[in-house]
Amino acid sequence: MAADIHTQLQPIDHCGRPPDSLHLLIAEIPDLQRTCSQFRQCVGQQWHLAADSKRHKLVRQLCRMDTAISKLTSDLTSRSKRLPTAHDILADLREIEEEFGEVRYDKRSKSLCTTTEPITLEGLEFGRFTICFNLSTIASNCDENPLNVIALDPNPCAADDAVVHPHVSAGHLCLGDATAPLRKATTEHRLADAFQIVAAVLRTYSADSPFCAIENWNGRPCDDCGFIANEDTSFYCEPCDKNFCEDCFSRCRDCGESMCLSCLSSCEICGDRICEDCQSLCDGCGEVACTGCLENELCPSCLEDRENEEIENDDEEIEQESTEDPSDKSQEPTSRVFTTDSTVTSVQSDRLVETSIHA
Ligand SMILES: [Zn+2]
Ligand SMILES: [Zn+2]
Ligand SMILES: [Zn+2]
Ligand SMILES: [Zn+2]
Ligand SMILES: [Zn+2]
Repeated sequence: MAADIHTQLQPIDHCGRPPDSLHLLIAEIPDLQRTCSQFRQCVGQQWHLAADSKRHKLVRQLCRMDTAISKLTSDLTSRSKRLPTAHDILADLREIEEEFGEVRYDKRSKSLCTTTEPITLEGLEFGRFTICFNLSTIASNCDENPLNVIALDPNPCAADDAVVHPHVSAGHLCLGDATAPLRKATTEHRLADAFQIVAAVLRTYSADSPFCAIENWNGRPCDDCGFIANEDTSFYCEPCDKNFCEDCFSRCRDCGESMCLSCLSSCEICGDRICEDCQSLCDGCGEVACTGCLENELCPSCLEDRENEEIENDDEEIEQESTEDPSDKSQEPTSRVFTTDSTVTSVQSDRLVETSIHA
């Protein structure tokens, strides 16, 4: 097994990184020379704006070259390091077996795998995980991820079946601070170290960057905003048969029934939430309103309009009355009653007393 693994790990340069980085670096040089002479010319002619733009271009080019240089340096130094012999690999395999109880090599998929103990974080059980490294990916030394993490007794988070550990989603482990150490271990073919690093990440909960936070593991996603609410802050809406977070859930101001915001309407006058059963429509403009905001089935603005119309009507009638028969009042000092469709107006002597009776 150690010999097979050793053969499999022989460096293959099919990613071709060293020539690539070198090529990138050399390709930048003519461009850099051109920008340099243009910059000098702009400064000489005192073309300040143009000189500034050339200066920015130079900085960008130098940045690109800087990246290419560090990539090339790291590639060349890691290649020059002595890689483990078959004997070293055998020692590594023994170390992995001792730590995890087993180590398997699958010739077909070229994967070296082991399984962790059942993992429990903050009282929540996530079961065992199989850690697999693809050796041909490691040997090629490209940027491709050689690691795959599989939950053997999956306890996925309620919000997403693919998340089987706070830091594992769809086989991908979010390594956080362990990214660089793992990359170094795989580049140097230190297999036991690579497994230890991954197991350490699986055994630790980092609250900064989980795919799903432990406190929301068994929570429910709000059907409206997607926020994952835990059991205490998740609410069920009966009319639509869905679950919502605190912010997307309210109650009817009139009957007190709790519902989601989509199942509740708002009174267009006071803004309070009301359920369908409790909402009324203004007779005049058809606006949705709560019962408290309507008077005689009218919203305040329609009520005001209606009253103004009535006063105008009354004024017109009084005017007509006085022009038609000016002697009327003096001859009949007792009260007279005019009736319009919705208002009874009594005129007593010179005083006008209005009482509105709405249908
Ligand atoms: Zn919500
Ligand atoms: Zn209601
Ligand atoms: Zn609802
Ligand atoms: Zn209202
Ligand atoms: Zn209205």
